[in-house]
Amino acid sequence: MLACDTCDTWTQFIDYVKTRCTATAFGNWLKPIRVLKASAEEIVLEVPNVFVKEYLLTNYQKELCTFLPLDPNGEPAIQFVIAAPTKDHPQPAPQPIVKELPQKKNGPTVKLNPSYRFDTFIEGPSNQFVKSAALGIASRPGLSYNPLFIHGGVGLGKTHILQSIGHHILENHSKLRVQCITTEAFINDFVDNLRNKSVHNIKRHYRDEVDVLLVDDIQFLQNRLNFEEEFCNTFETLINQNRQIVITSDKPPSQLKLSERMIARMEWGLVAHLGVPELETRVAILQHKAQLRGLNIPNKIAFYIAEHIYSNIRQLEGAVNRLCAQCLLLDLNITEEIVEKSLREMLHHAPQKKISVEQILKSVATIFQVRVSDLKGSGRTKDIALPRQVAMYLALKLIKESLQSLGTYFGRTHSTLLHACKNIEKRLGSDEVLRRQISMVEQNINA
Ligand code: ADP
Ligand code: MG
Repeated sequence: MLACDTCDTWTQFIDYVKTRCTATAFGNWLKPIRVLKASAEEIVLEVPNVFVKEYLLTNYQKELCTFLPLDPNGEPAIQFVIAAPTKDHPQPAPQPIVKELPQKKNGPTVKLNPSYRFDTFIEGPSNQFVKSAALGIASRPGLSYNPLFIHGGVGLGKTHILQSIGHHILENHSKLRVQCITTEAFINDFVDNLRNKSVHNIKRHYRDEVDVLLVDDIQFLQNRLNFEEEFCNTFETLINQNRQIVITSDKPPSQLKLSERMIARMEWGLVAHLGVPELETRVAILQHKAQLRGLNIPNKIAFYIAEHIYSNIRQLEGAVNRLCAQCLLLDLNITEEIVEKSLREMLHHAPQKKISVEQILKSVATIFQVRVSDLKGSGRTKDIALPRQVAMYLALKLIKESLQSLGTYFGRTHSTLLHACKNIEKRLGSDEVLRRQISMVEQNINA
């Protein structure tokens, strides 16, 4: 869906530019650009030559930033591909596929995104635990939980938290050498050095020249047997010297297809779960992101957006970017009508199976072996209270309705629902059995 969103915003950018430059300039510079691929993270553009790329970047930097996704350096995330020469567009000089990344001498350090900091990470019940654990280890690297293992779904802020740790340590412990890498970069680094027969250099680098290792997306180590062992050795060397390791993943350690040894190592320290933020937190994030872009979103509208986009913060940001682009550049006032139109287009591409509270109650009743009538009733025994809270948690997570209206299904107030959700989120951080049960309920609902 977001792929289409980026495509749409590219079209909006082109429409915007068209009205602001001469027809000749438009025909020479902008018309020949083709979109090859678009995703929420970047757009791939085919240009006839490098001059078109330069023209675009030099003249429309600000607008590109507003309309398109941004890379970790805050630049528009565009990959340029130079088209093969044709009669119409002879190639001035052969150009490589652009987007060179600065290479560091020592390993593929990720440049920290300047906006991924603790003070820009909005806190709520779903992420409080992770944030305070992250702040704890950033204040005393290597001296508290080691490793810190953060897991959670896509777009919920794992990379943001990981890089916040990096910033905090660099600023407060300037002597420590921090390396932030993606798991893919770690693997590529080893592959490159194997090829150059300098693998001992890279091993030495990771083991002797790094005090804090921040590893993003460890799930990419699955099915990479040789690298898994290499990573495990590096990991043990660092931990034995009290060097801090932080790992992020889309699943908890036990659900990763990795060796028992590796899983056990990752469970050595603290395993923390990053949940889906509740409505109020989503509203706060949304308003914060809009303010960064110079737009104030009134409460009522912010609630409307956050009620419709609920499972992924990146998606929420996409909506904000889109609204900001429309309102600031096209000089529109933000109204419910505009929001509804934008969102309708955004959500239009991802028709979601509509899930009902009844379906959730039935599945919860099956998995937890209780009766639906008990879940709806008022009995407060422990056997019923937990599954009932799970049903409320899932209703909030899976159904696009306001807290108030969901509350009425359960005959409870919205604060009871929030409390239930908070309690389940908290337990999910440490209760593996509950996590499995909830995942079984979800599978049952979708079956
Ligand atoms: P993940 O790595 O889990 O897929 P990211 O860390 O890339 O997710 O987060 C996606 C986007 O959502 C980022 O732009 C990030 O800044 C934003 N985000 C996620 N959670 C929060 C939060 N609690 N406060 C502010 N921004 C957030
Ligand atoms: Mg990430």
